[in-house]
This record gives sequence, C-alpha cells and structure tokens, in this order.
Amino acid sequence: MISQQMVEEEIFRLFKEAVIKLPEDVKKALEHAYAIEDDETALLNLKAIQDNIKAAEDMEIPICQDTGLPIIFIKMGDVEIENFQEGIANGIIKATHEIPLRPNVVDPLTRENTDINTGRFIPQVDIELVDSQTLEMTVFPKGFGSENNNSLKMALPGEGTEGIKQFVLETVLAAGGKPCPPIVVGVGVGGSSDMALKLAKKALLREIGEHHPEERMASLEKEMLEMVNATGIGPMGLGGKTTALDVKIEYADTHTAGLPIGVCIQCWAARRATGVLKGENNKKG
Ligand code: SF4
Repeated sequence: MISQQMVEEEIFRLFKEAVIKLPEDVKKALEHAYAIEDDETALLNLKAIQDNIKAAEDMEIPICQDTGLPIIFIKMGDVEIENFQEGIANGIIKATHEIPLRPNVVDPLTRENTDINTGRFIPQVDIELVDSQTLEMTVFPKGFGSENNNSLKMALPGEGTEGIKQFVLETVLAAGGKPCPPIVVGVGVGGSSDMALKLAKKALLREIGEHHPEERMASLEKEMLEMVNATGIGPMGLGGKTTALDVKIEYADTHTAGLPIGVCIQCWAARRATGVLKGENNKKG
C-alpha cells in the first residue's frame, strides 16, 4: 500500500525540485545555445537566463514568478494507493504555502483565485496504466506565457508531412518572443483533437536531445528544429541562432479522414521532475 502521506510528501518534493532546479538536459542545452551564439543581444539574454537559473538554485527559490498550472503525468502500475486524489491535492497545497508557488488557479469566468493551486479538475492529471509494481509521477508545472501560444489544426489527410511542418512553423512565428524563447516545441500528430494536444505535451517529457525512437519521426524532429531556428526569433524574441532547444514529436494512429496536429510550446523554464513510489513492504495490499 502507498499511503496518502507518501503521495503528499512526494508531490511536495517533486514540485519543489521542478520549480527551483531545471533538469540537467535543459541546462546543458541552454549552455550549448550560449556556446554557439555570436549575436550580442542573444548572448546577453542567454547569460541572464543562466544567471537566473543559478540564483534560483543558490537561493532555493522558484526559477520564474509564474510557477505554472499544476499538471501531473502518472504511470500507474499494479499498486494500491490510499486517498490518492487527496494526497496529490494536499501535496500541492503544501507546496503552494511552503515553497511557495504563486497561486495561479482561478475560476475561468469570475477569475476568483482558489489561492491553493487546486480547483475544479485541477491539478490536471493524466494517468497511463502500465505493467509494473510502482507508481511513477512526473510533475509538469506549465507556465502560461508559453501555454497561451499552443495551437490545434484538424488538417486534411492530404496535407501530410508538409502540412505538419507548415503548421508548426506558423505556430512558432505567431508566438514570436511571447513564450520566452529558447522554446521546446512539442508536436502531437494523430488521434483525435484532444489527443493530438495531449501528445504534444507528453512529447515534452522526453529529454532535450532524446529523439523519437522511430527514425522517420526522429529525422522530422531534426528537420523541424532547423526550420524553427532558421526563423531567427532567438532568445527572448530579440534575434539569434537558438529559437528552440528541441522539437519533440509524439504520434498516435488516427481516423482515415483526418490528420490532427497539436503544437505545445514550452518556454526555456522547461520544468519537470519525476519520482517513483513503491508500496510499503514492496507489495500490493
Ligand atoms: S513563459 Fe516560462 S519563463 Fe516566461 S514567464 Fe512564463 S513560466 Fe516564466
């Protein structure tokens, strides 16, 4: 049995790690962007980002004032969990008070803030069932400076790969400097409309530089990364070589009459943290 307290503590720990310390792959990609840059303004912006990352780690404070909307991706094996929903919610509330996280969760119409970063259907939780004896949770606090630039197209099947590339480019150009570049671009292809966007977000869970296992998708990722960086939008939208640190594709099979394309834009503060819990006594029950 995984106790409610274990879930609460793990969710708190993961949010704390995610909002204060960027994953190593993201930091390395930003360092690489600095190393290959020769535009002075871009260098200044990349240096400011690196100073920001270091200050957050040294002072143990969040990397950005927008600590995001709480999103959690779960891989659930054959485990028994005590009061799972309450455990997650309590972990987020504790994180909101103690880290602290900015209270971001509001009623969509009245804009009244819940003040605790939980609310109706929030945290947004995605559960994937897996054959294991563990519970894996990845917290993904998503800033809305980037999220507001996401896009969905229900393309026609004939638009094919060229249509996907064109839509990604249109979305990146429309976003410009708004999502705090260098960005990571998640592209979801197939499924239905909501699934395409979910796949785009899930693609962002892969490490920077880790390509899709299928060669045809990996080469499309590389091609689209070059295409996005050729826009010259650059760090913070002020020009430079690196507009995107990476492009990630995830796909599902789809209906014969459609080609859903979801694009999810992630800012440089690409925060995520993963932890795995096993039941006490390491067995179910
Ligand atoms: S887009 Fe990202 S870096 Fe920019 S303000 Fe939002 S969370 Fe912070």
